[in-house]
Amino acid sequence: MGLLSAGTPLSWDDTKKVADHIRSHGITQFLHIWDRLKDKNGDELLWGDEIEYMVVVLDDKTKNAKLSLRQTEILTKLSSIVNNLSLETEDAIAIPTFHPEYGRYMLESTPGSPFTGSITDLLSVEKNMRYRRTLARRYLKPNEIPLTLTSFPRLGSPGQFTEPYHNPHDAVSSHSLFLPEQITNPHARFPTLTANIRRRRGSKVAINLPIFVDEKTPRPFIDPTIPWDRSIYAEDPEAKNGAALPDHIYMDAMGFGMGCCCLQLTYQACNVSDARRLYDGLIPIGPIMLALTAGSPIWRGFLSDVDCRWNVVAGSVDDRTVEERGLKPLEHDRFKIPKSRYDSVDFLWLLTPASIIVYGSMHIAHLFIRDPLVVFSETIDQDDKESSDHFENIQSTNWQTLRFKPPPPKSPIGWRVEFRSMEVQMTDYENAAYAVFITLLSRAILSFNLNFYIPISKVDENMSRAQGRGASQSEKFYFRKDVCPGGNSPKSSGSSSPVDESRPKDRKMRNCFPPPEIPENGVPKGPVEEEYSEMTIHEIINGKGDSYPGLLGLIWAYIDTLDVSQQELSKIHSYLDLIRRRANGSLLTPATWVRNFVRTHPAYAHDSVVTQEINYDLIVAVDEIERGVRNVADLLPEDYTGGEADGGSISP
Ligand code: ADP
Ligand code: MG
Ligand code: MG
Ligand code: MG
Repeated sequence: MGLLSAGTPLSWDDTKKVADHIRSHGITQFLHIWDRLKDKNGDELLWGDEIEYMVVVLDDKTKNAKLSLRQTEILTKLSSIVNNLSLETEDAIAIPTFHPEYGRYMLESTPGSPFTGSITDLLSVEKNMRYRRTLARRYLKPNEIPLTLTSFPRLGSPGQFTEPYHNPHDAVSSHSLFLPEQITNPHARFPTLTANIRRRRGSKVAINLPIFVDEKTPRPFIDPTIPWDRSIYAEDPEAKNGAALPDHIYMDAMGFGMGCCCLQLTYQACNVSDARRLYDGLIPIGPIMLALTAGSPIWRGFLSDVDCRWNVVAGSVDDRTVEERGLKPLEHDRFKIPKSRYDSVDFLWLLTPASIIVYGSMHIAHLFIRDPLVVFSETIDQDDKESSDHFENIQSTNWQTLRFKPPPPKSPIGWRVEFRSMEVQMTDYENAAYAVFITLLSRAILSFNLNFYIPISKVDENMSRAQGRGASQSEKFYFRKDVCPGGNSPKSSGSSSPVDESRPKDRKMRNCFPPPEIPENGVPKGPVEEEYSEMTIHEIINGKGDSYPGLLGLIWAYIDTLDVSQQELSKIHSYLDLIRRRANGSLLTPATWVRNFVRTHPAYAHDSVVTQEINYDLIVAVDEIERGVRNVADLLPEDYTGGEADGGSISP
């Protein structure tokens, strides 16, 4: 979410004047960190998740589910309460942290201190997540719930979708036709970001998602809920003049994207080399996990033909001018820029030792083609040896599938990599399962030197495929054929295993592995097109033939190197089995489940419209699923018993 420094934000015109200053000092700040810490080595595995929630208020009388705009009050209460929790959490759960987010209805929680590499920590994630949700629940009003749904189905729809109600007519930052100013966190950073993206771009953002065409959806679909003729702000005629496409759901504000919730994971690496190995290794995994976690099929009250948030968020912060977007020849701007600030990564670090400087510079250079969007007048001049604020200013407004996080100045924290593509799941059991899966995969990548490299253009193509309706079952994705060095797949127990049986098993997941051997004459290379093929998610996760064991096969081979008890093994099995079943289609993605819920709702008119009543019933159902009082055998395993069941010493 980025820095929340206090101060006076500059207007866009003034920000532009200091952009080069911020950029050049940002790079100097990075170079100071680099010089001081490029040889930092031996850091242990520390990791943690971030879960974003939307607070929803249920109005049983009017049968309406609305977003509760009480973020400030709730966070104030939570932070005063968590300070008094020390007695309660003797049970070794550190007091969690709650953070604000873009939407004034959003909360983010992280574990109070990062998890270590111990198996006990790995398997405490769900309990930790549930504890955080329980705390949030406890300090909400009785009719409010912390919901982990990626997008709020009726955000920006006609009628009342916030509590309290605000009319969108005075959306001074976004100029939205649909979202009131009050949807945004009031901290100066957020309205300024919103306004400066619009000003830099030279128009409102314009997001068009294809409508899901159902039996009775009018064709062409011309959205009857767009107030076409309202023109309070100069740009409003944009909708009428073509910004809103036929057969699409049109959205015109940052809040539609940045108001979404996701699940992120951050890993500390042993050293900078391993951080880039992990970064590169996880890049091709980004789109696969987006498709598998898909959870957002409804936008502005309509069923769409996509299942994921990604392009909505990308469009919602796309500050590129018409020239930068390539719609006009370059005259005033410096570059044509192919992607929004929020998108998949631009390129890999690559593995050769010499490349660390070259690709490292390119990595930073690519981030720094962007202008700063929010600058506070009080913090323009900084000591570049002591501060990383200008670096973080640019870094934290490049929202990509992976983030390479350098150590902050004056802290013991090491080089970290953040995995950012996943959509949040409705239950903490699922969120924990994905966290456990990615954590174990990150270890398998480092431990077996897995090579997932495919061209970035193919990763981009996968990102686009991942978002389509039902992509996890219907699409194929580019994936590397031979992911193990020397073609030698590690296999899990029972088979003739190249995993070294004589090596003592680790009780803790390691962080420092021997660096990969790079043959003296380099790696022999055939044509790049022969290195990858198109595979289903089921094949990518669960394996294909004898040659490729699947990500799960690789993970099980890694688990063989660990000293885990039977009980731990069965818990790991339960998490990995969710992933296996989501991948093979025997369990639905949240997006498909939500879509089916709407399409089978008695009040649904088969016209793509998700009414207030359907939305209310959906939100109630999601809450009941989370609490384990509604069984959904097509979404969750039968033994899922609900978020309150695992309370133990942490229940209220
Ligand atoms: P951001 O919003 O910038 O991504 P957050 O502070 O919200 O950052 O989340 C960072 C996550 O990283 C948290 O889950 C936290 O537990 C975890 N974390 C904290 N310190 C470390 C560390 N040294 N190494 C790895 N992860 C860490
Ligand atoms: Mg966040
Ligand atoms: Mg965060
Ligand atoms: Mg994050």
